[in-house]
Amino acid sequence: MSLNQEVSLELLLKNSLDLSPDCFCVYDNEVVLYCNDHFADIFGTSKEKAIGSKYKELLRQAWLSQKGVIIDTDDFDTWISDLDKAHDELSISQFETDLTDGRWFRMSRTTLECGYTVVFGVDITELKRTQKALEEANKHIEQLANTDQLTGVNNRRAFESIAKHEVAISTRYKHPLSLLTLDIDFFKRINDNYGHEAGDDVLKQFTQLCSGIIRESDILCRIGGEEFVILLPVTESTAARKLAERIRSRVADNEFYLSSQNKKISMTVSIGISQRNEFDESIDEVLARADSALYQAKNNGRNQVCHSIV
Ligand code: GH3
Ligand code: MG
Ligand code: MG
Repeated sequence: MSLNQEVSLELLLKNSLDLSPDCFCVYDNEVVLYCNDHFADIFGTSKEKAIGSKYKELLRQAWLSQKGVIIDTDDFDTWISDLDKAHDELSISQFETDLTDGRWFRMSRTTLECGYTVVFGVDITELKRTQKALEEANKHIEQLANTDQLTGVNNRRAFESIAKHEVAISTRYKHPLSLLTLDIDFFKRINDNYGHEAGDDVLKQFTQLCSGIIRESDILCRIGGEEFVILLPVTESTAARKLAERIRSRVADNEFYLSSQNKKISMTVSIGISQRNEFDESIDEVLARADSALYQAKNNGRNQVCHSIV
């Protein structure tokens, strides 16, 4: 099959490129020989102005006018010379670029044997949007999986992974790491006397109270029904004891409001403390020592802080 005599292949190709939703440009010696409207658009200019201009000047204009392709630099000349170097090393390159209007393009740049460089760009805005939505959904799922639904603090799953990370940091930098285990005293009685909803109210208020006392770098986790852990990075056990004592006394002095009963009640908490030592390979050993200190606090009559002896 051959082309109609009156239709040149060049015209046919140019018309097709103008109709295409993709962008296209060919340049030689940095000067744009041909581009379609979509290509000019990503530099915030028109096809007529772009053809005959230097490719780098189009980029400079986009950078100066903050229109079209986003060029994130304070120093355009260094940026463009870095780009030149990257181009010199590769005859074919692919990259993604975003525009000030929110669109994204995947660009392919190929230098042909004749020396001309051909640039194609495909609009991937929808793909990027879907990707971003998926990433956000994944982040949300991850957050849900790590959060205790009732109190909004870290759950046991989160504790395991945060603790692993903190043990690694503590080992690597030889920073102290302390841990508190907290168990509300006679919590069952609250449920028995006022109902499960009242118990839930208390658990929420307890976590809020603790969150207000600890530092931002301390990590509060609910690891069981009325059992909590606070990881204290870069904290010696003496400082941990002071914090534990503060929590204990603030809890004992606090009035917990039961909305279901429109009533205020008091309660206490027992706390075990331990500090990671050089022989601890994981958080399990530290947690086990804090747990036995907590057990001791319970046995000694509750509403108190005990330190692990090891
Ligand atoms: P102790 O001083 O020895 O710690 O006594 P305790 O009553 O606090 O301990 P026990 O282990 O006997 O009871 C814990 C109670 O916590 C029993 C359980 O029903 C309750 N519980 C666990 N999870 C929840 C929860 O999510 N909400 C409510 N309301 N209660 C819970
Ligand atoms: Mg318990
Ligand atoms: Mg308890």
